Amino acid sequence: MPKDPSVAVIGAGTMGNGIAHSFAQYGFTVTLIDISQERLDKALQTIGANLDRQLAKGTLTDTAKTETLRRIRTSTSLATGVADAGLVVEAATEDVAIKLQIFAAIDKAAPADAILASNTSSIGISKIAAATARPGKVIGMHFMNPVPVMKLVEVINGYATEAAVTDTVVALSRRLEKVPCVVNDYPGFVANRILMPMINEAIISLHEGVAGIEAIDTVMKLGMAHPMGPLQLADFIGLDVCLSILRVLHDGFGQPKYAPCPLLVNMVIAGRLGIKSGEGFYDYSAGVKNAKPSARFT
Ligand code: NAD
Repeated sequence: MPKDPSVAVIGAGTMGNGIAHSFAQYGFTVTLIDISQERLDKALQTIGANLDRQLAKGTLTDTAKTETLRRIRTSTSLATGVADAGLVVEAATEDVAIKLQIFAAIDKAAPADAILASNTSSIGISKIAAATARPGKVIGMHFMNPVPVMKLVEVINGYATEAAVTDTVVALSRRLEKVPCVVNDYPGFVANRILMPMINEAIISLHEGVAGIEAIDTVMKLGMAHPMGPLQLADFIGLDVCLSILRVLHDGFGQPKYAPCPLLVNMVIAGRLGIKSGEGFYDYSAGVKNAKPSARFT
């Protein structure tokens, strides 16, 4: 593989725009692919706004901003978009059927030696790899949100991932000034295997009346030096995403300790998904986080 592979990013949502932003900022040519032209247009706007923020903070020059944007092109055709990629990073919707279909399609259209990475939060890399004819070249590259800011990349080895592929992905992560951590492919990997039971336990504590929202979040912020309490973090991630990851852990390990709290299930059914729906454990309808003193959590 050449030193700087051209990169195709599939999915232009929350994570895809950040991943495209980061690679382009560090000199890689990026094709951002989505089935929705509207999502692609919105992603370019978001990248522009986030670059402006870096500019205002003095961490980026005007020229670097222009160069970063110039390196990103967009496409609604997966086959065309991955045709000359050395690295494909898939960041599409967290749905097994969608991921398997996307990886089968990338496998047919991307160069034979291209590395195929998934940004999945919880779906097995070995399972995704089995949808391709090159399981040795499939790997997890799990960025954190917001991608341009967060330093961690959890690099997940599938059962068949070749050592040279892991080495390349570790080196590419460092090129983005990230800190890669290599882990193995078990449900939730490391990040969500540890994070999601903590969030679930915070929701159970609320549900059982141990304490209120602010108290639970304050205990964890001040007591454990977490930048955000677990309930606020759940709102930030999306309660639907938290629920689907807990279900992967529950199904994957078959242990009751991973069972999602019924309150979380009810809130997702009711469409209270956190920041993205305007309301979760907190109220975001005014554009900022506000308490919801009268809401029911039992
Ligand atoms: P999102 O819903 O914001 O974006 C998903 C995008 O994928 C959408 O724009 C959608 O149009 C597009 N898409 C769906 N099917 C497609 C297809 N067949 N081809 C091309 N594009 C398609 O989702 P997100 O939050 O950005 O999450 C993306 C991935 O990143 C998921 O696997 C998720 O688990 C993972 N992840 C999310 C976070 C987070 O905090 N949101 C953090 C780490 C990892």
